[in-house]
Amino acid sequence: MTEQETQQRIVHNWQSVQQQVRETALACGRDPNAIRIIGVTKYVDEQLTRALISAGCRDLGESRPQLMWQKSEAMQDVTPLSWHMIGHLQRNKVRRLLRCEPTIHSIDSERVLSAIAEEATQQGICINVLLEVNISGDEAKTGFVTDAVEPILEAQQQPGIQIRGLMAMAGWGTDPTTARRQFEKTRELRDQLQIATGRPLPELSMGMSGDFQAAIKEGATMVRIGSSLFDGVIERK
Ligand SMILES: *Cc1c(COP(=O)(O)O)cnc(C)c1O
Repeated sequence: MTEQETQQRIVHNWQSVQQQVRETALACGRDPNAIRIIGVTKYVDEQLTRALISAGCRDLGESRPQLMWQKSEAMQDVTPLSWHMIGHLQRNKVRRLLRCEPTIHSIDSERVLSAIAEEATQQGICINVLLEVNISGDEAKTGFVTDAVEPILEAQQQPGIQIRGLMAMAGWGTDPTTARRQFEKTRELRDQLQIATGRPLPELSMGMSGDFQAAIKEGATMVRIGSSLFDGVIERK
């Protein structure tokens, strides 16, 4: 594939995903603009990441902190650009990661949450975070068990962070019906938490290439799409 063919393919994929998101939203009576597409670039290098940006994607998701800060440092010429951390984060990576002021979807411990709050305060910034919930009960999955979330919301009123909502993934190999039920459970949990704590939790990060339509029907405000955007360009993961 020439560079131009690659670019055309990515433009095509981006527009196709955007259209599917729009159609799914409209079909269930939601505003398509209330759903942000996070382009997950963890599979690709800087060049393909730039191709996706050129296609129009301005929200990028990475699952490894090092790759996020490397790319963000290499792409400081691109503005505006928003970074989204979607993978497990260790405390010793927080300082450098926060320089790109990411939204962090994958908070899975109180320790890492406190580390982010402390570092953000030192850097004089405020970081939007989501609490990752292990909604499928899948042992291989990270995230809080559902019962653990409310005490964290009650306890965590630290400066430097704003807890904006929940993130969830359907279990491995889940069929679409089961995936949808898991997303529904995530939304219900969010609704209960808002009532119980009185804190607004507007964001629901859920849905990937294989199940984003189900997630949108259940109220996702951010969908994290990787392989569909690079279809035909890299081998499908
Ligand atoms: C890789 C990844 C995605 C994107 O998955 P695709 O199936 O490639 O769209 C979304 N969310 C998380 C947490 C990921 O690690």
